[in-house]
Amino acid sequence: MALIGGIESHASAAEKFNRDVDRVNWHDKALWNLRHKRDLAAESQPEWEDLKQLGSEYKLHTLANLKHYLTEFEANCKKNGIVVHWAKDGKEHNEIVHSILAKHNVKNLVKSKSMLTEECHLNPYLIERGIDVIDTDLGERIIQLNEQPPSHIVVPAIHLKKEEVGELFHRKIGSEKGASCPTYLTKQARAHLRQKFLEADAGLTGVNMAVASEGAVAIATNEGNADMGVNLPKVQIHCMGIDKIVPNMDAASVLSRTLARNATGQPITSYTTFYKGPKEGGEMHVVLVDNGRTKLFQDELLAEAYKCIRCGGCLNTCPVYRRSSGFSYNALIPGPIGIAVSAGDDETHSLAWACSLCGSCTQVCPTKVPLDKIIFKWRRIHSEQGKLPYGKNGYMPWVGKFMANETMLNLGMASARTALRILPDALMKPFGMDWTKHRELPKAPKTGSFEAWFKKNRENK
Ligand code: SF4
Repeated sequence: MALIGGIESHASAAEKFNRDVDRVNWHDKALWNLRHKRDLAAESQPEWEDLKQLGSEYKLHTLANLKHYLTEFEANCKKNGIVVHWAKDGKEHNEIVHSILAKHNVKNLVKSKSMLTEECHLNPYLIERGIDVIDTDLGERIIQLNEQPPSHIVVPAIHLKKEEVGELFHRKIGSEKGASCPTYLTKQARAHLRQKFLEADAGLTGVNMAVASEGAVAIATNEGNADMGVNLPKVQIHCMGIDKIVPNMDAASVLSRTLARNATGQPITSYTTFYKGPKEGGEMHVVLVDNGRTKLFQDELLAEAYKCIRCGGCLNTCPVYRRSSGFSYNALIPGPIGIAVSAGDDETHSLAWACSLCGSCTQVCPTKVPLDKIIFKWRRIHSEQGKLPYGKNGYMPWVGKFMANETMLNLGMASARTALRILPDALMKPFGMDWTKHRELPKAPKTGSFEAWFKKNRENK
């Protein structure tokens, strides 16, 4: 998975975001609202846990039989008149998309939301080659105008306040100065985008699910922008990671029932369209992309990250994401699922530690991705490779030796207890460094110790 924004560690980037306490609180609340709506939607479904179990099983089964379903999908697409392309990485993906556009002399492309094309850096690639690429999802258009990557996989502009969007629209699309009413701003965006839809020579979308038995791709949006983009021009292109494949419509219906509920608390997205062939006189292309996915499929646990249906639920519930923002991860996909798919590429080796291991993400995930287990595994992998963050490489082996030596450990604990009993907190806290910045020190028992209690009550019993 792609990383963004250089090699700053998560902690350092999060620390900068944390300086603006009001913004942190506002960000936290905005995300928690989504989590709250998700809970209400989930609770309204008596069979919610069954849906999660089924969704998980469908995805696991598909991943275990990926070659079979991809082959079936390709064959059925061809029967439906769809041109199928395969790309091993982002470079090949971009070249394929460009060659289709160049063949039709496309100058204006409208694009609906697609994290895959972000991962492959498609926009700059096409823009460099003279193609005007317009993101048509409202949130995506906002961040495109603001020259930023998405900070969330479902609500990409969640980091911006409505006043900031108003200011941006005033500068970039000529809306009224000082406007911050969401309805007004949405109408402005709609008028601006309508013109772009009419001018487009081709439409490109991401894919929520690709149904093998049908040779069809499903696209879910709340704004209908993918449908506008696909239906107006002659050429339509759908780009997908190979993990988006599902066996049949039963699987697609189960996953559709959980996707929007877990994302925004809606029963279903406003528009969910299945495209099964080109329009009359038109061309339909599907580009299937690996880009490192099969590498992660080799590991049984890490592979489960690809059960993900990109609902964003794990980001909304994550206490670290909510209070450190999407950009602090320096990864295209932030939050728990971002760590699960990107930690292997993280040169700062800090992503796997951007997690409290509270397990809330795993609890809310509609396809039961074991996110906390995967993140813990990444920590183990980094540690076995000697790639620990924050200087841990230097001192952790000594901590290990110290803790493995009973005499040393008991001596250290006794000294710490004495110090905690007699010294003021202000003097002790600096020894805890970052750990005690936002935490209180533990209180030592007035007499006795855990070691003594253990010796008396548990040892050799
Ligand atoms: S890992 Fe689960 S909760 Fe997170 S985005 Fe994917 S499907 Fe949603």
